[in-house]
Amino acid sequence: MIYKWYSSHPDETAYFAEKLGSLLQAGDVLLLEGDLGAGKTTFSKGIAKGLGVERNVNSPTFTIMKEYIGRIPLYHMDVYRLGEDGEDLGFDEYFEGEGVCIVEWAHIIEEQLPLERLEISIFHDSEFSRRFEFLPIGTRYEEICKEIMK
Ligand code: ADP
Ligand code: MG
Repeated sequence: MIYKWYSSHPDETAYFAEKLGSLLQAGDVLLLEGDLGAGKTTFSKGIAKGLGVERNVNSPTFTIMKEYIGRIPLYHMDVYRLGEDGEDLGFDEYFEGEGVCIVEWAHIIEEQLPLERLEISIFHDSEFSRRFEFLPIGTRYEEICKEIMK
């Protein structure tokens, strides 16, 4: 089942993401898809806040992965630069690790992704309107979606 949520302001997006972040646990994996300017970084900053990360979160494009310290660690990955072949850099250590993973451009490493995950797609509907589609795979993520939609 797909859960839809609509945002009409970046602050609203950040607050919603923060609420989601506060529910996350070590080993949770979130995939984030959306065009440039959709709001992936805005959303990731909110998640980080909900995880208790104090450092500023920005785009990991040039480093592929950035690690942040919080209540639990955040591994923020952007695998865009790996190109369509999606070289294996040992991502499973992070997916099964002590932190929460956010993966941008995750389809590039489709074969390396865990089966259970929360897929989030952001659609840029108009200047301030964004449509979020949450596709949970696995009961843990189903529960999370039900909780954030309350
Ligand atoms: P991405 O990382 O996907 O390229 P960013 O989060 O960096 O996107 O940028 C999103 C841009 O869209 C920001 O300038 C933000 O202020 C703007 N914006 C406008 N409305 C929204 C909204 N409802 N939710 C998120 N961002 C929004
Ligand atoms: Mg970004």
